Amino acid sequence: MARLSDAFIDDLLARSDIVEIVGSRVPLKRKGREYSAPCPFHDERTPSFYVSPTKQFYHCFGCGAHGTAISFLMNYDRLEFLDAVEELARRAGIEVPKETRQNNKDSDLRDQYAALEAAAKLFQRQLADSPRARDYLDSRGVDAENRARFGIGYAADGYSTLKDALGTDERRLKLLERTGMLSKNDRGHVYDKFRDRVMFPIHDRRGRVIAFGGRVLDKEASPKYLNSPETALFHKGRELYGLWQARQASQKLERLIVVEGYMDVVALFQHGITQAVATLGTATTADHAELLFRNAPDVYFCFDGDAAGRRAGWRAVESVLPRMKDGR
Ligand SMILES: [Zn+2]
Repeated sequence: MARLSDAFIDDLLARSDIVEIVGSRVPLKRKGREYSAPCPFHDERTPSFYVSPTKQFYHCFGCGAHGTAISFLMNYDRLEFLDAVEELARRAGIEVPKETRQNNKDSDLRDQYAALEAAAKLFQRQLADSPRARDYLDSRGVDAENRARFGIGYAADGYSTLKDALGTDERRLKLLERTGMLSKNDRGHVYDKFRDRVMFPIHDRRGRVIAFGGRVLDKEASPKYLNSPETALFHKGRELYGLWQARQASQKLERLIVVEGYMDVVALFQHGITQAVATLGTATTADHAELLFRNAPDVYFCFDGDAAGRRAGWRAVESVLPRMKDGR
């Protein structure tokens, strides 16, 4: 990786306020010249986590967590180094030097984000062209505002619609494969993974499309829900569907309601409950529990009363109980 110069990092940190960065995620209390809070990196009752506005670093006397605004974002928001730098730069209104963004791995990831964004746009155009898909959304009461809010689209019923539209050369085809948008059969033939499905883009914490969930229109078809596979951008055990939209809808989330599927999230938003999220074809993981509590102090699980819903409820309890503490 091309390295960012130390001078750039120093300048970036000088123009960022660690109290503001930490304080927007952890409830800080002023204590003399410093600020303190219960440590977000270990369980404790008496605060031993301090943020120093003069030294611009944080330190925990309990677990030894220590660092700058950059390491805080990396550890708390779980960002990669360069993403943390970009987040700070964006807040400070500084441009990250271009050459650092030109290394191969980085530009490949950027291309993957762009490919998924293009796929989302394609699905939205196909929704506009499909009365059947629009009828389905109408029947579920999803209005234009929420279709736009969630970027809902439609994958046409064909084996190479997306492949033909976006995989126009060998490099783009390979790119689509890496994003999980194509499947390959035993004979090596590559085709669209999502066909004749209502498409729900899954956004990351910065609002970028990182994967899709597709729901069948035809009740008889299976599987009812199909998600993107795990990719470099998408780790289903760490993402929550709807979290980006919930964070956009509220300045501060008082609570989060975890439901079973994308349509449940969209339906709740449609009825004015804009704090709903869903796990993505997986039980609630420890990472999910952390992510939920980082975003809201109160978390509710609301699953179907059938056997699957009860199992999901139990798994949620198992993930959440070990992380309970005062205020959660
Ligand atoms: Zn600590």
